[in-house]
Amino acid sequence: MSDYGFTTRTVHAAQDAGAEHGAVHMPIHTSVQYGFQKVEDLIGVFQGRIKGGFNYARQGTPTTAALEALITRMEGGVGSVSFATGMAAITATFLTLLRAGDHVVSSKFVFGNTNSLLGTLADLGIQSTKVDTGSVAHVEAALQPNTRLVFVETISNPGTRIPDLAAIGQLCRERGIVYVVDNTVTSPYLFQPKSVGASLVINALTKSIAGHGDALGGTVTDTGLFDWQGYPNIFASYRSGDARQWGLTQIRKKGLRDMGGALSSDHAHRILVGAETLELRCDRTSATALALARWLQAHPAVAQVHYPMLENHPQHAAARRYFKSGSWLLSFELADPQRLVPVIDKLRLPVSATGLADTRSLIIPVAPTIFWEAGAAVRADMGIADGMIRLSVGLEDERDLIADFEQALA
Ligand SMILES: *Cc1c(COP(=O)(O)O)cnc(C)c1O
Repeated sequence: MSDYGFTTRTVHAAQDAGAEHGAVHMPIHTSVQYGFQKVEDLIGVFQGRIKGGFNYARQGTPTTAALEALITRMEGGVGSVSFATGMAAITATFLTLLRAGDHVVSSKFVFGNTNSLLGTLADLGIQSTKVDTGSVAHVEAALQPNTRLVFVETISNPGTRIPDLAAIGQLCRERGIVYVVDNTVTSPYLFQPKSVGASLVINALTKSIAGHGDALGGTVTDTGLFDWQGYPNIFASYRSGDARQWGLTQIRKKGLRDMGGALSSDHAHRILVGAETLELRCDRTSATALALARWLQAHPAVAQVHYPMLENHPQHAAARRYFKSGSWLLSFELADPQRLVPVIDKLRLPVSATGLADTRSLIIPVAPTIFWEAGAAVRADMGIADGMIRLSVGLEDERDLIADFEQALA
């Protein structure tokens, strides 16, 4: 199967995994308990000697396992753990791999809730330094002897900033630091963080991969590149067997079994169905977003457009080098911030809503909503102008969207 293309492999994944009765979709396994003919096998599953066995749905079901296998393959990794949401995956990663006294370096442009979570960690004794990760020099300058983890996102929301991805990977490898890349905006179709040395990859499945705004989910994938044998925070009980699995075993046992943010089989199924069209949707939304970005850039009512595939984007060269296309995420600033609300209200197609990567376009004024709690000083530091609008481009026809913006901006 490895010679086949991305979508060929995805749509045949369940059958290749041997779904029962020849089912072409992995069935939705709703059982919480998994029983055994011989109690020896129950013991074997508990002790990890029987691989791939199930015992209690909080740690996984055949349906969530099929989704984990699919994401692992898309990311070129050695394994994945699924969670109820993207935030549950990020929280589990931090709480299971870090201890009080450890230090994190994070992009200062991360997703707002991740940023807020870093504040919670500070109260637990895990400090973080937030830097502009567009230059590896900023990351290097922030490193401390107790820095265990560096966290970045491929394309930041809403500003579309891109980290110095490969150089940060090189730095983390040299220093033995866990490099976590949140691949949500790009998805494994546009970019594989393993190619820049990521240790762990986060995907909020809720966005591109599920793709229809009807399911929440998240995964952590281990790329197999990090040497867990040299990592001090792995508990003794997880230091056995294939060392590439130690980190994920700890994330599954502590983060999923103990903390309990399990993905349901129903949602895993919806995400698996959504994933089948990931390539088609990404190609379509990226093409529409680029056309719309160019059109907006030429409009006199628009002061600035942020989209990585525009030639004047400050990190355009990096975007071209790393990503297959620019994604559905685009933001722009109105020349007159007073027009923010009237312009959005005049639009007929994009839905005024928070959220990303639905089949329909979603639009939101940034400063008075998702960055309201942050306050004016943080907004200024993060380059969030008062007239900034974030758009998640959906599957509507390009000419319909452009015509809609034409009438709204007139
Ligand atoms: C949405 C998002 C998350 C969180 O995902 P949920 O499934 O909504 O919890 C994390 N990271 C990024 C970059 C996101 O866009």
